[in-house]
Parts: sequence; structure tokens; C-alpha cells
Amino acid sequence: MIVRPIHNILLLPDVTYYFKKDFLVNWSDSPVESGQDILFLLLQEDKKAQKLAPEDFYPIGISACIESIDDEDNVQVRTMERVDISDIEIKDGKMTADAAIRGEIDDFPREDEKLLFDQLRRALLKFVQGYQWGVWARSYILQRKSMNDLACSLTDYLNLTAEEKYQILAQDSRRQQCEMIAQAIYEFIEISNVSAEAQNAQKDDQEQLYREIAIKKQIDYLQRELDEMHPENVSDVRRFEKKINDSGMNEEAYKEAMKVLNRMKQEGNESHEYGMLYDYLDFMTSLSWKQPSSSPIDLEKAQKVLDEDHHGLKKVKERIIQQIAVMDLNKKQSGSILLFVGAPGTGKTSIGQSIARALDRAYVRISLGGVRDEAEIRGHRRTYIGAMPGRIMEGIKRSGSSNPVVVLDEVDKLSRDYSGDPSSALLEVLDPEQNFSFTDHYLNVPYDLSNVLFVCTANSTDTIPEPLLNRMEVISFQGYTALEKFQIGKKHLLPKAMEATGIKKDMLKVTDAAMRRMIDEYTMESGVRSLKKLIDTLCRSAAVKLVKKEQTTLTVTKDNLSEFLGHQHIYHDKKLKTKIPGVVTGLAWTSAGGEILFIESKLMEGKGELIITGQLGDVMKESVRIALSLVRSMYPQAAKKLAKNDLHIHVPAGAVPKDGPSAGITLVTALASLITGKAVDTEYAMTGEVSLRGGVMPIGGLPEKLMAAQRAGITKVFIPYDNIEDLEEVADEVKEKLEIIPVRKVTEVLNRVLA
Ligand code: ADP
Repeated sequence: MIVRPIHNILLLPDVTYYFKKDFLVNWSDSPVESGQDILFLLLQEDKKAQKLAPEDFYPIGISACIESIDDEDNVQVRTMERVDISDIEIKDGKMTADAAIRGEIDDFPREDEKLLFDQLRRALLKFVQGYQWGVWARSYILQRKSMNDLACSLTDYLNLTAEEKYQILAQDSRRQQCEMIAQAIYEFIEISNVSAEAQNAQKDDQEQLYREIAIKKQIDYLQRELDEMHPENVSDVRRFEKKINDSGMNEEAYKEAMKVLNRMKQEGNESHEYGMLYDYLDFMTSLSWKQPSSSPIDLEKAQKVLDEDHHGLKKVKERIIQQIAVMDLNKKQSGSILLFVGAPGTGKTSIGQSIARALDRAYVRISLGGVRDEAEIRGHRRTYIGAMPGRIMEGIKRSGSSNPVVVLDEVDKLSRDYSGDPSSALLEVLDPEQNFSFTDHYLNVPYDLSNVLFVCTANSTDTIPEPLLNRMEVISFQGYTALEKFQIGKKHLLPKAMEATGIKKDMLKVTDAAMRRMIDEYTMESGVRSLKKLIDTLCRSAAVKLVKKEQTTLTVTKDNLSEFLGHQHIYHDKKLKTKIPGVVTGLAWTSAGGEILFIESKLMEGKGELIITGQLGDVMKESVRIALSLVRSMYPQAAKKLAKNDLHIHVPAGAVPKDGPSAGITLVTALASLITGKAVDTEYAMTGEVSLRGGVMPIGGLPEKLMAAQRAGITKVFIPYDNIEDLEEVADEVKEKLEIIPVRKVTEVLNRVLA
């Protein structure tokens, strides 16, 4: 008897199997010939022959008999009965085992089995009908003679594991065995049907997709033809498509733009969203996305441009040239962020424009005055109706370049409210660590701002939030002296105004004296903004006269100036003509420059009350109290007068804001003068904060204050000792005309003026 281990096969009784002869040899000494008995032992796992052990086999196998062998060594084997296996022995690759027939429980009548068999056959026949190979399969199914035959011939297709196949063999109840077979066959039919359906559906989907692509290509092609015939009617979609492809957008921007473009295509121009989509694409494609290479910088040329556009401003220009040199060395297009601080009209914005010209880059000015909503910097999300990009991206678009020089004007006028803090958004714009991927909410994709050169301007640093201020390097614009204004007016403002109004050089002459009068009597400012307006007005009036042909050439002199500008004299306080006890000259700073200021004090009969007039702010009122206490302690005798009289302090000049500590020293001197009865010489002016111990502390705005003193005809000025360094910023022509006396203590002033 041949003993043959076999794995993963559905073995059932009364079925014919075919094997190659080789498959059966070598496991026992018995020859492979007709009539020979075989014992098939079912292996639990597929194992190599050498390692087989008795416990690797299932306990039930099947006996069989070789029916015939043909010329090509095909062996036909007929299975007989299920057997219980025992005493397996494996030695030198040969096997022996004992087998005892295992009876089955005959609980399934033959006719019932036949019925089930027919049912299964019908189901299978129906299933194969739809297939091309169905004809062949049909006859194959029809040739099956029994339930077991059918099951075994289909095993390769059935979804059964080796264990399940064994379970079918091992089932003693015939009914249950047949049911297991039926279930496996039905499952096979079902699974095949479902996957066929899925395949069909997939095929349909794919066909549809190909069809769609083909149609779209057709439309594209036809549209292109149409566009070429009528270039004036090219649709928005096509125009944007071309622009997007040509724009050099980064990947994210490209994806977003294409997404919006597709929406635009689907919505059509009747849709209410069309306008919004149009605006977005228009904005995206108007932005410059290409990164320009940094061109080498010519420092000499840069200096020349700066000098051409602006008179004076030596220090500012020096700092700008340094910045340009550093950018050149670093091979970068931006550097530290400069903050120009100074009064209006001192050239802060226009020098930004000169920097752009010096670097051969685009220029754009973005005004931040009054911005209080974060969205104004960072844009609104597109879901909002009327959403717009923020001012930064809008400015970049206007510049038409990705590396412009951007002047952020009036950063000190940013405010914050419930809708977010614009200054923190601005921080992000200016931070080189973050601004290479600045994301405006409207754009919704990052834009690289790292090549933009930002310059900020402000009138004062007081209202700029600390974190923002820390990020910037402050450069002060001191304001111009009368002489500088004269030069600016003559060399820059007048020629520009004449050119703008179309007046030729030889048609209009403005004498130096007329120019001086305009500066001294028509304007009151540190910068030249009003002067520029005046000169513009003058040129327009001149233009009218020239056009009316009243004259062919005009000369504006000091005397006929009012014909052009009207009588619009501005009054600056001049130094007092007579000295009076209790009246002293102080110096004040306003955003328009410096002014002199008189402190007047008077004692009247009364009960020791203090009256303050002249719209003083809280800080200045405190200064009055400090001065009063100080004077009381310094002149205890004379101060007795204060107890019996009312003291009235008045600071005239309604236009000058009076809230700051810098009048402290003037107040002390005025009160000391009042109670000692000694008048202070009108040649003197002073500025400085005082402490209760009589120390003089530093103040701001010294250059403007000294300029005002000099203009008013003052000749001697007391300043706090600690402000000496600021004198460097004061123009020489001012310093030449003043005796500047630095003091550490109030007594130094009093000793000198009340001597
Ligand atoms: P700001 O920004 O400080 O308010 P602007 O830059 O707007 O001042 O200057 C106002 C006008 O004065 C501009 O037309 C500018 O060209 C001119 N200007 C200011 N300073 C100078 C200067 N130093 N030389 C020539 N023109 C000047």
C-alpha cells in the first residue's frame, strides 16, 4: 500500500483524481501500478518531507485505489473510504501507517441529496451563463455525477482554507457534509457575482472619465480656435488661465488659483459669486510672483541720488548708505528696518522714495494712519462679502514688483480695538523670521516678503507699541532751520512746483528776500510741508497771471508776495521787550516744531489760593505744585507772602499744547522772580524738568526748542546738563547765535538771573 502525505486538498470518497506518477513514488516501497491501494494522509501544514512528524497529520485520511496509468504516466486514482489513521511511522523518508474505515452517519436520504445536487448544478449553470467561457463550463458542470464529484472538481475555485477542507472530510453526518459543500458553492457564486458587478461599475466610471477628458480637450481646442479668431472676446477664464501659468506663482498659490479658476468655470458668469472669484484671480495674477535677482549696488550712484533729491539730512543719508552697503555685502535685498521719526514735512516719506530710486527698485507708500482693525493689515477672509486684501498685499500689488521699497507711513497712528491688534500683524510683516511666508487672509496662500525693503515713518515714538519699536532702528529727522528751509525752497520745491505747473525757468523769478519772508512769516513748522503748499500756490497764481498775459515774466519780491499768497501772516512770539518780575520765557515742543512760551505769575490780595489758567495739562499742573513747594523751601521769608495772597499763574499762547514736565525750571524761576521782586532779563529762555530737591533733569525736543529761541531773538538759554549730547544735533547756525548754559541745579539758574 502506498502511503502518501498530501496537503490542502478536498478529499472525499468516490471521486476520481488524477496525479502524475512521480507524485506517488518515493514514500513507500510499494510499486505504483494499477490495482495498488493508496492511503492519503492529510497534512495540517505544508511541510518538507524530511521534517514530517506523526503529529503533523490530521487524524482522518482517505483510502484510494489506482485505477489506471496511461502512457504519459498520468495516474487515475479513485477514492474509497474515509479512514481513521493510527501508528504513523516515518523512517528514512518512507512512511507506514495503520488505517481503520470510519463509518458515516447516514442521515441524508439519497433522493434529498440528489435534489440538493440538482439545485447546485442549476445555480452554477445559471451563473456561468453570462460569461464567454460559460459554454465550456456548462458541459463540465453537466458531467459531474455526484455531490462529492462536484465539490472536488470545483475546489480550486471555492473559497476554502486547508482546515475547512479537512472539516468537510471529517464531518461524519452526511447531511451536514452536504450542507457544508452547498454553502461553499453558493458563497463562491455570490462572491463572483458581486466582484463582477463592481468590475462593471468601475469600468463604467472609467469610461465616463475618459469621455469627459476627451470632451474637455475638444472644448479647449475649439475655444482656442475661437480665441484666435476674436482675440477681443477671449473669455475671463482663458485669460486668467494664461496669466496664472505665466505668473511664476509658488506651488500653493498655483493650486489655490487653479481651484478658484475651476470654480469660476463651473459657476459661469451669471453666478453671483463670479465677481468675487474674478476679483480674487485678478488680484492674484496682478501680484508679482517672480523673484528678481539682486543687482549689484553702486554706492556712489546711490549717494548721488540721495543728494539730488534732498538737501541736508547728512546723518540720515549716512545711515541709509550704511544700510545699502550692508545689504550689498550680505547679498540681500532687505536689512534692518529703519524708522524715520520727525515732524511732518521733514522729508521722511520722500527719502523713502529716493532710496527706491537709488536702488533702482519700485516704490510704494502704504499709509497706516487710523488703521485699527487687524484685517486692514492682514486682509479679510474671502468668505466675507466685500472681502479685501490687507493694505500690505494691496501695496505690494500696486508696486508691481516682489522686491519694492515700501514706506509704511505713520506707524505711530495705528490703534487697536476689539477687532484685533494691527501692530501684532505688522510685527509679522516686518519679522524676517516669518515674513518669507506672510499669509494674507484674502490671498489664503503665503507670499514671500523677505525681499521687500521696509521703511517706517512716525511723528513720534511715544505711541508705537514696544515690541514693534524694538524691531526697528530709530532715525530722527530734526526739522529744518530757516536757512535749510531757504535752500530747500529755492533748490527743490520751487523748481518742482514750476515744472508741475508748466512755468518755464525764465518766466518766474522769486527773490531770496521773498523766499525768506514766506518761511518766516507765512509758515510755522519744522518741516517744509506748508512751505511746499505756499510755493505751489504761488506758482498757480503766477500761472494765472501768465496765461492772462498780464505779464510775460514775473518776479516775486518780498513786497509783492502778498499779491500771490494773500495776507496770511503767522505770528511767532518774539522775545519780550520789557522785563517784569514773575514773567519768564520758557521753550516748548510741538509736533510742528519749537515755540517760545511765557510763564506769567501774579500775586493778588486773597487767602493763599492758587489759580492756574492757560489750559495746562495734568503733568504741567504737577510741575506748578513742585515749583511752588521748591520756591517756598528756598525762600522761606519771602514765601510768607504766598500765605496772604492768591497766586495766579497763566501761560498764554492757546495754540501751544501745554502738557509736559519741561517747563519745571521756568515755573520755579518765574515764582522766585515774583516773590523776590527781581525781574529776569528778557534775553534769557530756559527748559528743564525739576525735582523736589532742585535738580534739573533732561528733556526732549532740544533742537526744535533752540531753533525757536533763536528765531524769537533770545540770546541765552539754560538747558539741562544731561542734554549736552543733544547739542550735536543742533544746527551750527543756531548754536552760533545762542549762549547755551547747561545747568545741574535750579540754584545755578536763579543765582544768575536773579542776581
Ligand atoms: P514727511 O513724510 O516727513 O511728512 P515728506 O517726505 O512728505 O515729509 O516731505 C514733504 C515735501 O517736502 C516733499 O515734497 C519733499 O520732497 C520735500 N522735502 C522734505 N525735505 C526735503 C529736503 N531735505 N530736500 C528737498 N525736499 C524736501
